[in-house]
Amino acid sequence: MFKKKCMAAVLLMLLLISGGCGAKEEEVPETPSAGSEKLYTAGEYTATGEGNYGEIPVTMTFSETEILSIVVGDNEETPDIAKPVFEKIPEEILKGQTLHVDVIAGATNSSKGLLAAIEACILKAGGDVEKLKNKVVEQGKKEPIEKTVDVVIIGGGGAGAAAAASAAENGASVILVEKGSSLGGNTVRAGGAYNAVDEERQSAVDMNDALINDLKAILEVDENTFGDFKDTVVTLKGQIEKYFEDGDTTKLFDSEELHMYQIYIGGKRTDKNGEEITSNLSLAKKLTSQALDALNWLVSKDSTLKINDSIGTVLGAMWPRTHGLSASVGVGFINPLAEDAKKNGAEFMLETKAEELIIENGRVSGVKAVKTDGTEVTLHATKGVIMATGGFGANAKMVAQYNTYWPTIPEDMKSTNTSNAQGDGINMGIEAGADLVGMGFAQLMPSSHPETGALSGGVWGSAESQVFINKEGKRFVNEYAERDVLASAALKQTDSLFYIICDQVTAGNPQPGDKNGWGDVIDDLVATKSIYRAGTLEELAEQMGIPADVFVSEIEKYNTFIDDQKDPEFGKTNFGTKILEAPFYATPRSPSLHHTMGGLAINDEAQVLDKNGAAIPGFYAAGEVTGGIHAGNRLGGNALTDILVFGRIAGKNAAEGK
Ligand code: ADP
Repeated sequence: MFKKKCMAAVLLMLLLISGGCGAKEEEVPETPSAGSEKLYTAGEYTATGEGNYGEIPVTMTFSETEILSIVVGDNEETPDIAKPVFEKIPEEILKGQTLHVDVIAGATNSSKGLLAAIEACILKAGGDVEKLKNKVVEQGKKEPIEKTVDVVIIGGGGAGAAAAASAAENGASVILVEKGSSLGGNTVRAGGAYNAVDEERQSAVDMNDALINDLKAILEVDENTFGDFKDTVVTLKGQIEKYFEDGDTTKLFDSEELHMYQIYIGGKRTDKNGEEITSNLSLAKKLTSQALDALNWLVSKDSTLKINDSIGTVLGAMWPRTHGLSASVGVGFINPLAEDAKKNGAEFMLETKAEELIIENGRVSGVKAVKTDGTEVTLHATKGVIMATGGFGANAKMVAQYNTYWPTIPEDMKSTNTSNAQGDGINMGIEAGADLVGMGFAQLMPSSHPETGALSGGVWGSAESQVFINKEGKRFVNEYAERDVLASAALKQTDSLFYIICDQVTAGNPQPGDKNGWGDVIDDLVATKSIYRAGTLEELAEQMGIPADVFVSEIEKYNTFIDDQKDPEFGKTNFGTKILEAPFYATPRSPSLHHTMGGLAINDEAQVLDKNGAAIPGFYAAGEVTGGIHAGNRLGGNALTDILVFGRIAGKNAAEGK
């Protein structure tokens, strides 16, 4: 699952201690004293706002002239992402007695949910929300900041944190700037899957027929069709032949060459112009050969952190070599690296957005940035600047501009990403003369919420049982197909919108008050018209606003395909049960942006390359901001490996001024 749910209560009490609040309650006059306008009906008020994962409850207390406290109650927002929202926004509101506050970058939906709840409390207290929204609190002019260090890192997600730890342990003085109010970026939204060939842990995994057949199929491929991966395929074939000759085919086979082969196969794509893209050999070699070492390096930073013994195959990984950690990505990945970097003297500047690289005589020698309070920041780097700003999955306009793969990318397409994934690093890199690779390829999540882009907020069963219906009431795709096939088909429908249809059985037999897999209460989704539920298919069609006759006959036809176990229209071969049992459900869905494959061209030393393939002095990059390694499609479980391996290399090389 993309998001790791956490039920941990976030309970924060922020009290403004200011003149007037110190008065004992019995001393507070019934009528405000002269000069202090009555703004609220004093008392305690509670309201809720809609966050990413359900309601955010807020309780506020008011005197007649002031907001006194804001308490955020239990909620299911992702703690690593929402923490700064629940701290900073109440703090600013209380300090300035204003609603003229910004949403927290990268946590827009949690911020909006919290602000909606706060506004509702203020309304209940009789306050003037509009006036408070317009109340600008003057900030004194801040002195510009100017510093010089060995290494400056831009972006505090996984790649940036790894680069910081690595540069600092190699003796460099380091400053990392992060535009959000917390570290983590998209990395903390990942499920934590990490691919690495690992003989010891993989020895507990058994081979099965499907895997044996995969190996046999590799023996049949023509290595001459693999471009510069030819030698890799030849070596791999030799390894597989030996594996079969040795006779014990019960133990899992794996090798760095097989991992490379799968990166090649999984990433090979042809775009709309007929151009083929494949993985960069030297990057694939570096990733696969350093994967386990980098993971061991990570856990060496925190004695409480462990690599789980069990090996799995995360969706889209192609082979059982996926590792997990004993802690979530935020706690297990970001924090140990950041803490280690700090221990070695690194400085982290949050809410600091890099805007421009400083380039002197062709060398990248620093960064100009600005803090959210407007303070100008100039950082000089004597040894190197590392770009680790992530991808541009939250910038649909940019994805649409570069897209060469999808039929169309609507410029308002939503995203599963943090809103900070805007492609800043790519644009700064262009200014420094960097070459770009694979920019036309983005990974889409086919079944996302049409308004938020998130995966949550719907009801359906497994892929076999789902039926996709467009606004005209017709099926349009084999619902069991791969993600990019589903997304491509959905984009061709009216408004890029479709409905996932299921009945009471295929929905998993939900009972009143039950929640879906993301923790949304299904009855609430129905009440807010996020999804539709009806006693008949005709009523369901009416609620969706689609032609009932077409829809009903389409579902009846689909049910006959299940009888025949054959779908002559779209070739579905894996079926669930028929759509028969009331109530029936419809969840509106639309593809959203998930991961951008393209970015700055780097070599296997994480140096950024110019258009002639030469390293740009002083300039390094790692993580989703780079392109080339995953070609047109990234294997599940390879993102964290990429970040850690290349973040670590970038940090070391920058520290050494390579
Ligand atoms: P990766 O997986 O490559 O590390 P992430 O998305 O996890 O990528 O992290 C990238 C980080 O970079 C995010 O925390 C994002 O807020 C930050 N970032 C993006 N643009 C800028 C910028 N212009 N200045 C500073 N930080 C930035």
